[in-house]
Amino acid sequence: QVGVLAVVGRPNVGKSTLVNRILGRRAAVVEDTPGVTRDRVGYDAEWSGHDFRLVDTGGWESDVEGIESAIASQAQVAVSLADAVVLVVDGQVGMTASDENIVRMLRASGKPTLLAVNKVDDSTGEYMAAEFWKLGMGEPYAISAMHGRGIGELLDASMDCL
Ligand code: GDP
Ligand code: MG
Repeated sequence: QVGVLAVVGRPNVGKSTLVNRILGRRAAVVEDTPGVTRDRVGYDAEWSGHDFRLVDTGGWESDVEGIESAIASQAQVAVSLADAVVLVVDGQVGMTASDENIVRMLRASGKPTLLAVNKVDDSTGEYMAAEFWKLGMGEPYAISAMHGRGIGELLDASMDCL
């Protein structure tokens, strides 16, 4: 029985880009249009000798209805089935009310959670990650899913939770 790591966060923060980076191939669909991943999709993944199941989700937004709310429910299902969670936020946008609502949902779930501040594409952006200490989810890991920065540290910490 391999551990399950779910990737959650608002639409467009780079969850699918992160999943592809971890898999080393383009399996998850990346789009400029928010909400393209409408479901939860699982992939077999491996990191430094650990096999695990990596689950991409469609993005969680609060106060939404219809299809958007169905996508959010899928993210909640993914969390409930996961052993650990990576919460992805957007370092270029900064903290949003939706981020804080996701944190509330994750706290209620009791699942170990790692906080990944994505789109920190170079070292001049490291300071952007610091504001996310305020979420109370522990150390914010500054990453760039697009360029591969900081992914090793995030995965090392994730494996400790599986
Ligand atoms: P998702 O909706 O959370 O799955 O987000 P996607 O992975 O589909 O990415 C949304 C957009 O953000 C796309 O245009 C990506 O190319 C872009 N993106 C993802 N990761 C990064 C990153 O590390 N840096 C920058 N600058 N853009 C990124
Ligand atoms: Mg996606």
